[in-house]
Amino acid sequence: MGMELIELERRLIGFDTVSRNSNLEMADFLEGYLGGLGLRVELYPSEDGRKANLLATLGPSDVGGLMLAGHMDVVPVEGQAWDADPFTLRAEDGRYYGRGTADMKSFIAQAIHAVEQLPRDSLKLPVHLAFTYDEEVGCGGAERLMTLLREREHVLPKCAVIGEPTGFQVFRLHKGITIAQVSITGVEGHSGKPELGVNATYPAVRIIDKLIEVEAERKRHRSMEEYFQFPYTTVNVGMINGGTAVNIIPNRCEIAFEYRTMPTEDTMYVYRQLEGYISEVLRPELKQRDERADVELRILNRLMPMELPAGSEIERIALELTGHSEATAAPYYTEGAIYNEAGIPTVICGPGDIDQAHRPNEFITREQMEQGVPFLAGLIAKVCGP
Ligand SMILES: [Zn+2]
Repeated sequence: MGMELIELERRLIGFDTVSRNSNLEMADFLEGYLGGLGLRVELYPSEDGRKANLLATLGPSDVGGLMLAGHMDVVPVEGQAWDADPFTLRAEDGRYYGRGTADMKSFIAQAIHAVEQLPRDSLKLPVHLAFTYDEEVGCGGAERLMTLLREREHVLPKCAVIGEPTGFQVFRLHKGITIAQVSITGVEGHSGKPELGVNATYPAVRIIDKLIEVEAERKRHRSMEEYFQFPYTTVNVGMINGGTAVNIIPNRCEIAFEYRTMPTEDTMYVYRQLEGYISEVLRPELKQRDERADVELRILNRLMPMELPAGSEIERIALELTGHSEATAAPYYTEGAIYNEAGIPTVICGPGDIDQAHRPNEFITREQMEQGVPFLAGLIAKVCGP
């Protein structure tokens, strides 16, 4: 016999799995717990061995089944005004508070509970539980899990549901994210003799201006307006850093930005626009002033958009069980893009409200906590049942 749902939730919230920390304590606990329930459990360690993904399966091993997927890591709590310890589950006024209650340990507890309650001989297809690390810092865990499954020639799941907080809405789309950095090299000098140096911060203005212009241009190319609140590729310059003193001509300036690409668009488009401007206009100008000056653009990370074509079986079943008429777009990034790309049709549907995620006093309502297990039991019955 396993734990009550809330007891299990309390255990999971108690693990401080902020992405920079190891998640092995939680993974080991789940390995033991799920093994005790009769699931075949495998841990898939990260390259440095500090973290692990967990894949647990109940039912036949020679066919793919339904994957219930979630991430074990949570975002940091530093600098946030919590009323109580974020890693101690607290129940109050019909809500459960704690880091990860919305994003997304409640789903993990619910998925385990749904599997726990299954009549054992009722599965024609298996149920897989896939719990990852590092989702909040670029989805490296899910990427690694897919790589290892392919390497070991594992049978891939037939379809998947990721239980990110959607309030049980069904999502099949979201934007991709590209993170890039521009490094400008100038020539330092005394501020009183500007002609003898090249100021590295001045080209930053033009880089940012160019990015604003590209975004304005993308804004005129809207698509999927019925699904997205901002139905175009957006750009955000998030960091700028240059110079050391007001009387020194700065020789260095760095700009970091991201852009979020619509599923219908090329994830390299914004990059190419900026690269074209740099190589055709900005760099030649700087070189003319001084051979040592330069501008470099490089991509730090590129995460593909998610697009599951409408009308798949998993979408239909999730809509039927939640009572929604149509699957729409998530306003945030998920591991769904990676699973879809790996050939596993995936939708996003889970308990809790994304507005609570990443905030102080993160919570899930008792109602959302209670709705999860019957929803997941229904899902398992429809996909894996006799
Ligand atoms: Zn999440």
